[in-house]
Parts: sequence; C-alpha cells; structure tokens
Amino acid sequence: MSDCLFCKIVAGQVPAEIVYESGRALAFRDINPQAPTHVLVIPKEHHADANALAQADDGLADEVLKAAHAVAVQEQVAEGGYRVVFNTGAGAGQTVFHVHAHVLGGRDLTWPPG
Ligand code: AMP
Ligand code: ZN
Repeated sequence: MSDCLFCKIVAGQVPAEIVYESGRALAFRDINPQAPTHVLVIPKEHHADANALAQADDGLADEVLKAAHAVAVQEQVAEGGYRVVFNTGAGAGQTVFHVHAHVLGGRDLTWPPG
C-alpha cells in the first residue's frame, strides 16, 4: 500500500533500524520504545491487522512468530522473559494499520503489574 508507513519501511523509503530480516518478515526498533528491547516484527506483505494476518497465506503468521522468537534470542531476552503483543483494532490502541508484533523485553513485564 503506497500510503502505509510500514510498507514504506519495507521499501526502504522511510528509515528504520532493522534488526532482523527473513524472506517474508522484517523487524525494526520501535521509534518510541516502552522497554529496553522494543522491536516491531511485521510481514513484508501488507495486512492491516492480526485478524487479516491469521487469514493470510499459509505460513505467513508462522513466519512472523518465528521472526519474533529470533529477535528475542538475538536481543538476549528469550530466557529472561519477553512479551509479544498485537494491538488489534483502534479499540485496542492500534495506530499503524500494517500488522506488527511488539516484542518487549529487558525489564520486569509480569502481568498484571504490581
Ligand atoms: P500500535 O499502537 O500497536 O499500532 O503501535 C505502533 C507503533 O509504531 C508505536 O509503538 C510507535 O512508536 C511505532 N512507530 C510509529 N512510527 C514508527 C517508525 N517510523 N519507526 C518505528 N516505529 C514507529
Ligand atoms: Zn503496509
């Protein structure tokens, strides 16, 4: 999609700090990190949200989850604990409508907090 921010990152038209790439997935640092590790993992192909990703071609959702895992290993948070979040829909706080998994780690993420 020509007006999609994350499609522009995939196309190299908007800069991002890319930390991981596979055939159909890309991971880059969130511009406004909420934890020491805060990486967004996306399918390179445009799907609006997790609902659409779940219905996408065979293996795409799988590849995004595997990329999230690879990022967690690379960022050294896989053993200590990390969170993978898909905000899905405006009511859940989704603001960029190109599906993305937030990979958060490097601090206490026990839930519910406190
Ligand atoms: P969400 O609210 O789940 O849609 O998350 C969107 C995320 O994208 C937010 O955490 C933003 O900080 C992040 N974000 C917005 N623009 C950029 C950008 N150009 N590069 C990296 N992350 C971005
Ligand atoms: Zn897109």
